[in-house]
Amino acid sequence: MPTPFEHAMNQLARATKLCSFTADFLERIAHPNRQIRVSIPVKMDNGSLRVFEGYRVQFNNARGPYKGGIRYHQDTDIEEVKALAFWMALKCAVVGIPMGGGKGGVTVNPKELSKRELEALSRGWMRALYEVVGPQKDVPAPDVNTTPEIMAWMANEYGKLTGDMSGAVITGKPLESGGSAGRGTATAQGGYYVFEALREKLGLPESCRVVIQGFGNAGEHAADIWTKAGHKIIAASDSKAAVVNEDGLDIAVLYEHKKATGSVGGFAGAQTIESSEVLYVPCDLLVPAALENQIRADNASRIQAKVILELANGPTTPEADDQLFEKGIHVVPDILANAGGVTVSTFEWEQNLKGESWSEADVFEKLKAIMVREAQAIFDRAKALNTDLRRAAFVIALERIQSAMQP
Ligand code: GLU
Repeated sequence: MPTPFEHAMNQLARATKLCSFTADFLERIAHPNRQIRVSIPVKMDNGSLRVFEGYRVQFNNARGPYKGGIRYHQDTDIEEVKALAFWMALKCAVVGIPMGGGKGGVTVNPKELSKRELEALSRGWMRALYEVVGPQKDVPAPDVNTTPEIMAWMANEYGKLTGDMSGAVITGKPLESGGSAGRGTATAQGGYYVFEALREKLGLPESCRVVIQGFGNAGEHAADIWTKAGHKIIAASDSKAAVVNEDGLDIAVLYEHKKATGSVGGFAGAQTIESSEVLYVPCDLLVPAALENQIRADNASRIQAKVILELANGPTTPEADDQLFEKGIHVVPDILANAGGVTVSTFEWEQNLKGESWSEADVFEKLKAIMVREAQAIFDRAKALNTDLRRAAFVIALERIQSAMQP
């Protein structure tokens, strides 16, 4: 199976056929500026020493400091982090924030660590990398399996090592440690603003039947936001199981069930099915909010949604994109749909640098204006180029990066 970075480069090649970019730019943007691998030693609770592998890929900083989350996952590696860093560069350009693209990670299953081990690992990541990050250099944030608490440990470690206690080195911190109002729900909220702006244009009804793959930060908040806006969540999944109820899941009760048991599976208010089957439940809107490579050439034909809105990074492969486009299924691409997270991260960075604290209402008003404006621009560009939304988003982002790279 192609790696996420191969997919990313395939997406790049497909989009750049549509508009003219310089050969020099195309060569440059296919290579990260820097890829860093570090060893992070952690004293485990049983007294033994374990060394974890950590990464930071700094892809492109033509538009501003590198920006992007840190992923803790047993399957992550530098190839995956490289693809995610590339997508971050495009994502920041899509929403017009003054940031470049980077991403970090550690190969670890954090669920197997105690809280003390997790803190030691997180502080260790920062100790190994503090010289290459910084408020004007590279600003990390949460991603899969990393939390506000982890960001606070890292910010604190950075402060101890450099004396810079502004917190602007990392975003997604808890409110009491310099975080921004609205950051916790920003990815889902931004996705909702995009959905609202495009709903009618994409032929969706006023009240949609929604399926959500993944019940982490993005999926969990999406379920809540779409429900409160009058839509029905008919299926949801996590890595262990999926649950379906055609009449709509009671999301508040489902949260409690997941908290108590560790999975959505076995929820009394629904039928439990295999986790992977969630993608094939007929619906108006399918929201992948888990990992890459979920919708591929071998399963795209089974999708029965009218629109796919990608809250995950890289859930759909280029081959699947073609099949979906032919079937008239619109895909609202990750670099637009999930850009609310990094947008509010950038608001957090700005607040830290200026010593300000904005209200949630202010944050969401600014976020909405950006998401609606850029969703509209991408929709119009896709029409003008007679192409899909992903290629249009790529073209817009690449034009912005190319013009920032020109002397
Ligand atoms: N990890 C998130 C993403 O993939 C957020 C990155 C950030 O806030 O810098 O967009």
